Amino acid sequence: MEKRAQLYEGKAKKVFATDDEAVVIVSYKDDATAFNGQKKGTITGKGAINNKMSNYLMQTLEAGGIPTHFVEELSDRETVVKKVAIVPLEVIIRNISAGSFAQRYGVAEGIVFDRPTLEFSYKNDDLGDPLLNDSHALALGLATEEDLATIKRYAYAVNEQLKAFLKTVGLDLVDFKMEFGRLPDGSIVLADEISPDTCRLWDCETHEKLDKDRFRRDMGGAEEAYEEVMRRLTGVS
Ligand code: C5P
Repeated sequence: MEKRAQLYEGKAKKVFATDDEAVVIVSYKDDATAFNGQKKGTITGKGAINNKMSNYLMQTLEAGGIPTHFVEELSDRETVVKKVAIVPLEVIIRNISAGSFAQRYGVAEGIVFDRPTLEFSYKNDDLGDPLLNDSHALALGLATEEDLATIKRYAYAVNEQLKAFLKTVGLDLVDFKMEFGRLPDGSIVLADEISPDTCRLWDCETHEKLDKDRFRRDMGGAEEAYEEVMRRLTGVS
């Protein structure tokens, strides 16, 4: 496969065209941003870890019946994925209170919910990714009712599978963000990435944070946390 022109550069990844119209190459960077790009830095080695972790989890989910954009890992940082039109919704599932949920509703972090919550935000950096509900998404023409139903069904299924799997390596899946894309035939697939950039992962015993919160909150040890997550995952792969 031939790598062609760069199509897009995001905060954590670059996307390149290929000689095959149906696929693109994603290249993961070490750049880290938080608070809608206001905080910038580098987490050395993050790109390679996120690439491998996301690919590993996407393949596991695919085997569990969730369609994903994953095609083939090319190298440490590069992966071939199906070209999709991203549905401009950030889909967030929470199992334990943390982050913006704890802030918005004035509760402590660490409350284990009886059942997961699901929320959408509008993927729009200029507006700061505002929260929105189904009727807002429909009014804005971001997705159809059928798309929303499919996305929710997949999102809850991804959560159940990931939560159970991560538990086996001593990690609690506190919350995470997903993005979905539409293939040319109109079907919806899980896209973007699943990594410590997009998930909150706490050690089951010590509740130590092993994710991007270490960068967001200036806690130090972000590199080591990402490596620890990778070490646990590759220990079982
Ligand atoms: O900040 P908040 O608590 O809403 O984040 C919920 C989850 O979604 C966290 O796991 C965070 O890493 C992820 N997230 C993300 N990208 C965003 C917003 C949130 O990956 N733009």
